[in-house]
Amino acid sequence: MSKNTNKNLRCVIQKSGRLNEASINLLRNCGVQVELSSRKLKTGCNGFPMEFLFVRDDDIPSYVENGAADIGIVGENVVVEENKDIEIIQRLGFSKCRLSIAVPRDFDYRGVEDLQNKTIATSYPHVVEQFLSENNVDCTVSTINGSVEIAPNIELADVICDLVSTGSTLVANGLKEVQVILNSEAVLVARKDLDIGKERLLDDFLFRVQSYLRIKGYRYVMLNAPTESIESIKDLLPGIKSPTVMPLSMYGWSAVQAVIKENIFWKIVDDLKKLGAEDILLLPIEKMVL
Ligand code: ATP
Ligand code: ZN
Repeated sequence: MSKNTNKNLRCVIQKSGRLNEASINLLRNCGVQVELSSRKLKTGCNGFPMEFLFVRDDDIPSYVENGAADIGIVGENVVVEENKDIEIIQRLGFSKCRLSIAVPRDFDYRGVEDLQNKTIATSYPHVVEQFLSENNVDCTVSTINGSVEIAPNIELADVICDLVSTGSTLVANGLKEVQVILNSEAVLVARKDLDIGKERLLDDFLFRVQSYLRIKGYRYVMLNAPTESIESIKDLLPGIKSPTVMPLSMYGWSAVQAVIKENIFWKIVDDLKKLGAEDILLLPIEKMVL
């Protein structure tokens, strides 16, 4: 397939499935509004010189390798399985899951050697074969696309290797997770020979992505407190460089403002109140450029 020569950065994302909405949300948070159409396989966007292709997730690494697209958003599990000549340029922090071996509940699994001479069903034959050969285990790999977890019940395989997040699907099928072979999350991939124009666009896009990832989970806290408590409050709220402290027109009181991780906020809010803090506001942050 010939490489696309379009000036826009062409990005391939999953057409439908677990990654589709999360990818579009990430793009929106980076100021890129993807034009959505249920019928079109290629659309444009507002907010950045980019265009989008929608395909099955398994095809994303090939589209990027052969130049039909410049970048893509895909699960690391698929990147490893497809083993194409592309680069992972940014881990994206969503669609976290693990590729794990699971066995029937009453299977007494003590280690990889227990897979010797068994049959393992999976949609990830390359990753599994590599894992088995690294561990010198002789096990038949049976490739199934979808509903892998029912394989042991219908005697298609002894054990399985599949994606797990909560593990509830395994439990519902009488299986237990015994060994993680790969931890995965969505990643941004790029083709290796981008021209200078697209390289520059990718740098700009990556800057937006990294700014967003940095701010995810952070909030802006504003409060009023007695000036005599400010030193103690500063220890609780160090901010990025230091908190902003301003005197209120009411004598003896100051306003404090700082960036904070939301989960930390809930741990320190009682201590802030004990130090006399009042009127505490926690606000979302739209963008943060350091
Ligand atoms: P397609 O039709 O595009 O081939 P699919 O059925 O292969 O889709 P999905 O189930 O939509 O794939 O999953 C897409 C990706 O989402 C997976 O490759 C993986 O990276 C991630 N994923 C899969 N299962 C989970 C899970 N349980 N929790 C979180 N992320 C997951
Ligand atoms: Zn798929």
